[in-house]
Amino acid sequence: MPEAAENIVIAGAGPVGAVCALALKQGGLDPLVLEARPVDAPLSDRRTLALSYGSRLLLERLGVWARIGDATPITRIHISHRGGLGRAMLSAAEEKLPALGYVLSYGELAQALMDELKAASVRMRFGVEARRAQAQGGMAELQLGGDAPEILHARLAVIADGGRGEDTPPAKWSHDYAQVAVVAEVQTEMPHRNLAYERFTPGGPIALLPKGDKYALVWVNAPDEAARIAQLSDADFLAELQRRFGNRQGRFLAVHSRGQFPLRLDYRGTDAGQHVVRIGNAAQTLHPVAGQGFNLGLRDAWELAESCLQAAPGTLGSAAQLARFAAGRRRDALPGIGFTDFLVRAFSTTNPIAHHLRGLGLMALQALPPARHFVARRMLFGKNG
Ligand SMILES: Cc1cc2nc3c(=O)[nH]c(=O)nc-3n(C[C@H](O)[C@H](O)[C@H](O)COP(=O)(O)OP(=O)(O)OC[C@H]3O[C@@H](n4cnc5c(N)ncnc54)[C@H](O)[C@@H]3O)c2cc1C
Repeated sequence: MPEAAENIVIAGAGPVGAVCALALKQGGLDPLVLEARPVDAPLSDRRTLALSYGSRLLLERLGVWARIGDATPITRIHISHRGGLGRAMLSAAEEKLPALGYVLSYGELAQALMDELKAASVRMRFGVEARRAQAQGGMAELQLGGDAPEILHARLAVIADGGRGEDTPPAKWSHDYAQVAVVAEVQTEMPHRNLAYERFTPGGPIALLPKGDKYALVWVNAPDEAARIAQLSDADFLAELQRRFGNRQGRFLAVHSRGQFPLRLDYRGTDAGQHVVRIGNAAQTLHPVAGQGFNLGLRDAWELAESCLQAAPGTLGSAAQLARFAAGRRRDALPGIGFTDFLVRAFSTTNPIAHHLRGLGLMALQALPPARHFVARRMLFGKNG
């Protein structure tokens, strides 16, 4: 074993890497976290995250939730499709929970996690890029880029780089949806009363998530349409959105913080061989239609930390430990990914038979409380739903 080898090195201090580091530290291990971003780089990410109630419980256990000032609860979700009958309403009251989920900006969550990492004295190195991780002589060998390239050794290398590292392997299951999410914050005439919308339209779904006194908008379009929308003035943007979404919230009054994200499915899985494991978006990148990406990543992080804390001495990063962890994660991730992929495809086809079936599906969801309960629990808690 090389001198000065680490137990666990985490590459990437996004929300998933940060949660994993905190759970390990609080359990008594001492991970080292590497982050490519310089220490004082401002977070320019405009993503809004809808955290499930299950994710809130995990963040509470880590002490992070208390640092998040203003997450907006979602108490109801209205699901509909444009130009057809059928709608469904999921409600927190029906699930006997205070909320179905919570809306906050990526930046707010990232800041709360950074503050907690500092408070917990987690070792971090900023401005360091993990270039390659591979098993070598019973350890993980990590090649680091940056000003002075170096090699680190660890019993376990956790890749949580969002799938952006140059060593990212090809996906086992991938699909380019040829869709782009146009994101923004919008003000509506009527207050949101903690009601979220998921409206399926032939161009792609439109989600409105209550956030503060506004709505966070995730408006999915074909790439050329998204490019056209990006050129619109604010007034024309609001008029187009009104036309596509309808009047359920009254008029759309104002828009700001517009941005765009191309959407695809890339499933690599958490298994990356002995001594190396992938979690969060490095393991799976999903379409945001069901708001599952970060929630799945958080459960990756939590279960990996549990698996490391329970590993017998000398078995950290062993093939047996990582295979058991990966099998558990497959049981959670694959149904969620399959459900998300089904939703995107089923609701974006213009086939008239599919259109009627969608309406019937929504009517059945509304008419059958057990079906609603199943969908809600699955979205809230994953495989433990
Ligand atoms: C429009 C949109 C809306 C979304 N909405 C939701 C939602 O409502 N609910 C939900 O659950 N999910 C949602 N998601 C998905 C969610 O944003 C991701 O699942 C989540 O951000 C993944 O976190 P992560 O930590 O794995 O990766 P990231 O957030 O990408 O973080 C990766 C980190 O690693 C660092 N890094 C990169 N390369 C390296 C390297 N080589 N070495 C060291 N560090 C590196 C980066 O600087 C970054 O800090 C949405 C996504 C999009 C695009």
